[in-house]
Amino acid sequence: MADFVIIGGGVYGCGTAWELAKQGAEVVLLEANTIASGASGGLGKRGVRANGRDVRELPLMQEAYEIWPTLHEQLGGETGYERLGHLLLIERPLDKTRQEAQVWVQQANGIPTEWLDAGAVREMEPFVSEAVIAATYCPLDGVADHTATTRSYAQAARQHGAIIHENTAVSRLERQGSKVTAVITEDGQRFSVEKSVLLASNRHAPHFIQQELGITLPLWELYPQVMNTAPISPMPLNHLIGHAHRTLAMKAVPGDHVMISGGWHGRYNPNSKQIEPVPEQVEGNRLEAVAAFPCLAELPIVEVSVERAELISQDDIPIMDYLPGADNLLVATGWSGHGWAISPAVVRHLAQWMLTNSRPDILAPFNYGRFLNKKI
Ligand SMILES: Cc1cc2nc3c(=O)[nH]c(=O)nc-3n(C[C@H](O)[C@H](O)[C@H](O)COP(=O)(O)OP(=O)(O)OC[C@H]3O[C@@H](n4cnc5c(N)ncnc54)[C@H](O)[C@@H]3O)c2cc1C
Repeated sequence: MADFVIIGGGVYGCGTAWELAKQGAEVVLLEANTIASGASGGLGKRGVRANGRDVRELPLMQEAYEIWPTLHEQLGGETGYERLGHLLLIERPLDKTRQEAQVWVQQANGIPTEWLDAGAVREMEPFVSEAVIAATYCPLDGVADHTATTRSYAQAARQHGAIIHENTAVSRLERQGSKVTAVITEDGQRFSVEKSVLLASNRHAPHFIQQELGITLPLWELYPQVMNTAPISPMPLNHLIGHAHRTLAMKAVPGDHVMISGGWHGRYNPNSKQIEPVPEQVEGNRLEAVAAFPCLAELPIVEVSVERAELISQDDIPIMDYLPGADNLLVATGWSGHGWAISPAVVRHLAQWMLTNSRPDILAPFNYGRFLNKKI
């Protein structure tokens, strides 16, 4: 019997396990494959960015800014966190006014944000395209090694007594009325639940909720594309890069590669049952990068990764809530492609919610009832 059972060994499962275990709770985490085998692992690094983020996530990002720089010390393991600053490039006059409003919102929410004119952008990024007329700059943004961080969370959770079972896929719940009493795995193991369950299984979560509670969540699956160029020297990028109208994110990653991403995606092939890159998506993403940094024009793409699925929600922010029919099943999913940066703050609040049964105010915007325009 564990106080808390967590389903999924990505950053949300492992991070919450650590937060709970270090407060003395008995935690069991069940992972279908291996730690960080989903969206929280894989190629390159993840952006830790407030710039351009949804206003409802900014308070979490403000907290995350405080946690990231010393998280490796708290975990006793690597996070690969670096504070590089993020530049959101602007080429079109019409984007200027919209971004001015975004700067106002970010500053009002305690996110240091500066407005840069074309000259200032070029001083910071000498290789940027002549078409760039301005940028917004968040000096506290950066990058982290997602695979290393997730594994460090898991390791630290274990050190505080959490029990982690890998290669243990959850197949169903056992319930008495609206209380989950046990979690059952595909290989027939039964894990009794004393207090509550966290469902942090990302792409698996919607099907599982449909199966267990008959609820359809407004989420869909996407296969975000990330790719690396061949090594380049000198490295033309000094910061984490985003763009106001181009579908583009860029960062320098170890090995002198430029990692290019930002919203392009792969496709599920029903014949091979694999998620595969789509040549037009690869070329489209590459051309956006070249438009922002023309010096990349001749640089080949040497690696493309699309196999890590992510769930996108109807309004582009996650769902964190208890759902009707299971009073002690907390669901945390639908990170919409930007769940990494805020994770150290979110897991702290998820653990608090599970320990106290009282929802932290900062998580209120992510309630399920918002899709129904009613309190659930
Ligand atoms: C390619 C890509 C690039 C991204 N870039 C950024 C970025 O730059 N900045 C940013 O902020 N965010 C980014 N994100 C988003 C961020 O990485 C994710 O939101 C976050 O990692 C999600 O973590 P998670 O723990 O919810 O899910 P996951 O890491 O997917 O973990 C879920 C786990 O549940 C397990 N599981 C599934 N089914 C079962 C089952 N039946 N029983 C037990 N376990 C099960 C899976 O094996 C998996 O390990 C990116 C995401 C992707 C995919």
